[in-house]
Amino acid sequence: MITETISKTNGQKLSIEDIGDDHLFTGLDTPMKANAFEMSNTEKKERISILFSEIMDVLGLDLTDDSLQGTPDRVAKMYVEEIFSGLDPKNKPEIALFDNKYQYNQMLVEKNITFYSNCEHHFVPIIGKAHIAYKSSGKVIGLSKLNRIVQYYAKRPQVQERLTNQIANELKTVLKTEDVAVIIDAKHLCVSSRGIKDDTSATVTTYYGGEFNNASKILELQNYINN
Ligand SMILES: [Zn+2]
Repeated sequence: MITETISKTNGQKLSIEDIGDDHLFTGLDTPMKANAFEMSNTEKKERISILFSEIMDVLGLDLTDDSLQGTPDRVAKMYVEEIFSGLDPKNKPEIALFDNKYQYNQMLVEKNITFYSNCEHHFVPIIGKAHIAYKSSGKVIGLSKLNRIVQYYAKRPQVQERLTNQIANELKTVLKTEDVAVIIDAKHLCVSSRGIKDDTSATVTTYYGGEFNNASKILELQNYINN
């Protein structure tokens, strides 16, 4: 069993508990194997179901019980098709750009986008709200697409800092502008239901790009979000 690991980035020795409880993360990209998509989704579900039933068996659960029998299959389906479906680039939302016909040239804010993600250190939920803002560079996207981008990146094992940056990066690429802002306010069940068991704290992460990286813009944005 691994109890400690040497950081690939700085050679530092870290215990696996420290990595989880301090929520360290190693980079902007979700760490994926090169052959991550060689296996079909059907094969993935079959494998996960077998492996999950082993976990349940090791825990001492009776898998012949009517209530538990279908759990490995349900978990496998949920992992592949729902809560981790954002690992597969095939599920990335197609974003169509429209001309900014109204010549609206102020910030656009889409606030309170509810999302559910999962902590990559403990595989328990992260529940939060994302607030997104951008200033059009001449093109706009449908409002629901902002929501879809958030949901796509949330449906991965995540750390909140990476989720924030991945959403910001995608917006910058799609909207062809640096003028994007992402604020995420989330509750981590690995902090509230286990470990330090702090039920009241929440974590806020931000990305302010281009024109948003300015005290008065940040204040304006915060005003819209808090009202
Ligand atoms: Zn965690």
